[in-house]
Amino acid sequence: MQRYFIKNDSHKDGVIQSTDNMIRHMKKVLRYSNGDQVICVDENANVYLCTIADIDKGILIREKGLQEYNELDVDVTLVYGLPKGDKFEFILQKATELGVKRIVPLRTKRSIIRIDDKRFLKKYERYNRIITEACEQCERETKPLLEPLTVISKLGQYRSDVNLVAYEESSREGEKSVLKKALDRIKTSITIVVGPEGGFDPLEIKEMNKLGFESCSLGKRILRTETAPLYMLSVIGFERELSK
Ligand code: SAH
Repeated sequence: MQRYFIKNDSHKDGVIQSTDNMIRHMKKVLRYSNGDQVICVDENANVYLCTIADIDKGILIREKGLQEYNELDVDVTLVYGLPKGDKFEFILQKATELGVKRIVPLRTKRSIIRIDDKRFLKKYERYNRIITEACEQCERETKPLLEPLTVISKLGQYRSDVNLVAYEESSREGEKSVLKKALDRIKTSITIVVGPEGGFDPLEIKEMNKLGFESCSLGKRILRTETAPLYMLSVIGFERELSK
C-alpha cells in the first residue's frame, strides 16, 4: 500500500491534510479516488491506515494505528567518500533501503568530484527527496538523516559503539576477521566509512585509525565504491535480522 511521510502538524482529530505533492501523486500517478486507502507515517514514526475522504482537497481520515516496526535494531551511520556523478544518489536510495540511519558525505583527497558546500546544499533538497521516496517504497518508519559535507578531521563526532573503515589494502593483506568481530561487538550503533573511486590515501587511513576507526577488509575482491557500502549494510542486516 502506498505510504506517505507527513508532518505532525498536518493531522488533527483524526483528519489529515495532504500536501500538494501527495495530492498530485495520489491523483495523477496512482489514479486513486475517494475511498481508496493509504498509509501515513508521522514524524514520531506513528503509522496510520487512512482513507481518502476528498481527493481534490487532499483530506484523509485516519482509520487506525498500525503496529509495525521495520527499522534495523542498531543505528548504522554511513560515512561515504563522495563519488563521481550520480552515484551518490544511487547510494542514498540503496543505503536507505538497507536500513541506514545516518549518511555523512565525506570529502577526501582522492574524491574526483569537486563539490563545495554551496553546491552540496543546493542539492540537499533533491537528496532528501530521494531518501523520502526510498523510505516510502521500502516501508520504513523513520527517515535517515543526511548530514552536511564533512572532512576526515571532523569524523570523531560521528563515532558509534563500533567504528570501521573499509580499506582495500587490508583485503590485499588478507585480513579476515575485523568485520565479523565488530558485528559481534555492536550494542546499539555502528559507523562504517567507505572511500571514493580512488580509495583512501594511507595518511587518511592513519588519521581515521587514530580517531578510533578500525581498518577492515570486505573480502578478497576489490569492490567498486558503490558496491562496498551495500555489502557492509547487507552484512549488518543479515547479522541483525536473519541469523538468530
Ligand atoms: N581504486 C582503489 C579501490 C577503491 S574501492 C584500488 O584499486 O585500490 C572504493 C572503496 O571501497 C575503498 O576506499 C574501500 O573503502 C572500499 N572497498 C572496496 N573493496 C574493498 C575491500 N575488498 N576491502 C575493503 N574495502 C574495500
